[in-house]
Amino acid sequence: PRNNNIQVFIKDRLYPREAAKVSVFDSSVQGGDAVWEGLRVYPEGIVCLDKHLTRLQESAKTLAFTDIPSKEMIKRAIKETLDANGMNNDTHIRLTLTRGEKITSGMDPRLNQNGSCLIVLAEWKPLVYDNNSGIKVISSSQRRNAPQFLDSKIHHNNLLNNILTKIQANVAGKDAGLMLDERGFVAELNGSNLFMVKNEKVYTPFGHACLPGITRNTVMEMCAAEGIAIEEADLSLSQFINADGVFATGTMGELTPVVEIDGRSIPKEDALMQNVLKLFKKKVRGYCESF
Ligand code: PMP
Repeated sequence: PRNNNIQVFIKDRLYPREAAKVSVFDSSVQGGDAVWEGLRVYPEGIVCLDKHLTRLQESAKTLAFTDIPSKEMIKRAIKETLDANGMNNDTHIRLTLTRGEKITSGMDPRLNQNGSCLIVLAEWKPLVYDNNSGIKVISSSQRRNAPQFLDSKIHHNNLLNNILTKIQANVAGKDAGLMLDERGFVAELNGSNLFMVKNEKVYTPFGHACLPGITRNTVMEMCAAEGIAIEEADLSLSQFINADGVFATGTMGELTPVVEIDGRSIPKEDALMQNVLKLFKKKVRGYCESF
């Protein structure tokens, strides 16, 4: 659904939706030269806000953006946007930082002389997946960007391999596409991380092969704190197909069972997996940070 009468923060002030535009000279248009975060708002605050802001700033620093806004500045822009829209729950914030407007078209960062451009786009949105019924996925022929080509720690806007994967899932009538890494091990879904449960133990692919997601990190810490065995490993598609349970993690969808991979059913009744899902639901608002 279209959120019509929203105010969007761009660079230093709010604009109504119809006027919320970036220049054709912006680095994001010229080269996908931008970093981003997806944030989720609850009445208690924003889930893991500080970690998201750290990842945004570190991604921008790696890419040598200039004039990177401080966490305080970003929080002020978020607050202004949420207040202007009267939003305090069920809200998805697409936080984008572009290298900014270029003096002329081109890729060279030296063409950026006016600092970076912060965009806070807040919209009413439910969780992207139904956490109870779960999602169906297909394995994609599209490989996840390998860290030797583009550092997976940078949360950047070059999303074309994720989009190609999502197109394959759409064509197949499934909810998401599963990407393998360049060696053929499971990496992640096109927009979320993956976990599997086997014989009372939780597994997830190593963080260098996937986006080291903040929800992924929270789940790993939560399991460790609860005495649930959790391990990062190289995991094959066969191991996922034969798992006792599989679930996806991400800020916008929280924890969702994966109930089908390539047409093969995956059970979602596993007691340990259900326990992890319930624990997260119970704790998620405790991870919120007010600001
Ligand atoms: N993998 C990909 C490819 C993503 O785009 C996202 C969402 N940004 C995630 C995983 C989940 O990350 P997070 O838990 O930090 O939202």
